[in-house]
Amino acid sequence: RKAPSRRGSMHDVPKDLMQQIQQLEQQFTVPTEKLLEVVDRFVGELKKGLSKEGGSIPMNPTWVIGYPTGDEKGTYLALDLGGTNLRVCEVELGEESGQYDIYQSKYRLPEEIKSGTGEQLFDYTAECVKQFLIANHEDEDIRDMKELHLGFTFSYPCTQNAIDHGVLQRWTKGFDISGVEGKDVVPMFEEALERKGVPIKITALVNDTTGTLIASAYTDPTTKIGCIFGTGCNAAYVEDMGSIPKLEHLALDPNLQIAINCEWGAFDNECVVLPRTTYDKHIDKTSPRPGQQIFEKMVAGLYLGEIFRLVLIDLYHNPDVKIFEGQNIEALEEPYSLDASFLAEIESDPWENLMDTHALFEKTLNITTTEPERKLIRRLAELIGTRAARLSACGVAAICKKKKIDSCHVGADGSVFDKYPHFQARGAQALREIFGWDASVRQDPIQIVKSEDGSGVGAALIAALTLKRINEGIH
Ligand code: BGC
Ligand code: MG
Repeated sequence: RKAPSRRGSMHDVPKDLMQQIQQLEQQFTVPTEKLLEVVDRFVGELKKGLSKEGGSIPMNPTWVIGYPTGDEKGTYLALDLGGTNLRVCEVELGEESGQYDIYQSKYRLPEEIKSGTGEQLFDYTAECVKQFLIANHEDEDIRDMKELHLGFTFSYPCTQNAIDHGVLQRWTKGFDISGVEGKDVVPMFEEALERKGVPIKITALVNDTTGTLIASAYTDPTTKIGCIFGTGCNAAYVEDMGSIPKLEHLALDPNLQIAINCEWGAFDNECVVLPRTTYDKHIDKTSPRPGQQIFEKMVAGLYLGEIFRLVLIDLYHNPDVKIFEGQNIEALEEPYSLDASFLAEIESDPWENLMDTHALFEKTLNITTTEPERKLIRRLAELIGTRAARLSACGVAAICKKKKIDSCHVGADGSVFDKYPHFQARGAQALREIFGWDASVRQDPIQIVKSEDGSGVGAALIAALTLKRINEGIH
């Protein structure tokens, strides 16, 4: 007897839809040879980013020096300004080695803020910090909290010449806030805090990937890379000063270990190697920053739903394809109306009848789907999700190849890593193909695992490491 196919049978799918499915498979499948080609170029681009000439991947030195020992102590504030939420935390480190306690509040980042002014953004953020302090320090006066140290996780590319400075290179993840690019965000935010009567200074400006790397290394010393697979996508790792030609002029100890925030979302901005589809090109062209973050626009959570939506719109308008016939697709025509969680829901639907998908399309888009249409929808979600996981794995592989790391843990965080079905397994499979690991080995030598809380605990640890260096007179 034949085993039931996990894929679900396609025998009832009409020819026009079937042809489209096959074309989509061709466009979105990344075969092993392509993975290898992407990794090869990626390794070269990581090196170029560290060179004096520079390349398209920024490879930003973070001035986070070395790993935590596990014995860091004290109470720190951590602020997380990512792409979707705003979070304020108070972190107590080190009752015991490698342990911590955390109190936190989450705030929604209002949509208008993402296209407003820098002052609005930082005032709103400062207000959240103030409210958090009022709620958590009831019997204290905020004006007396000068001794609190803040690790500020600001998840955008910054040029740092010290850990408490950071000039925003450019907004990413669809942000388009005026008056901040090209400026140091630290004094801007400190001024906003001052306006609110909150006398706190920023001890460290931290990228979420660096926070993730340090938080994971705190509890798991085999961690060598920190990754975010969320609204955006990026990684950080530790480099030898001697391998960073663009910092040569500082004449620092070549053995100094410094974390590099790769900003790998900018990989292949020159569009040489990535297998881009017309949909990827459209997303880039219509984004607030065309020509930037080309890799990120193919793999990050912000874009997955949009790629999916663009394909469906394209099929609907294709005269050779019958899909959503006689249906009002107004809701589907709204840009960025579907996020990655929409695809995640489709991919969680058992193949049998795809009734969850049916309900999802009715509820979210007011579209009634036929079973063959749902099979195409499901296959499309799989293709987009699989491509994202496989291309993301190329970045991890490239760092390992560049650093000649044969085995390690990669601490990973973000909504796509946490919630998108099969993302982790698909990434692991891609790494096996890239490195040619024998399927019979019990454990993959390089594993991408769930990280500790990078923008909370990681930022607090980095603040602690920074204070320690200042106290020791090294800065
Ligand atoms: C930002 C990075 C960040 C990543 C994940 C990207 O868009 O440029 O700084 O680490 O998103 O949040
Ligand atoms: Mg985040």
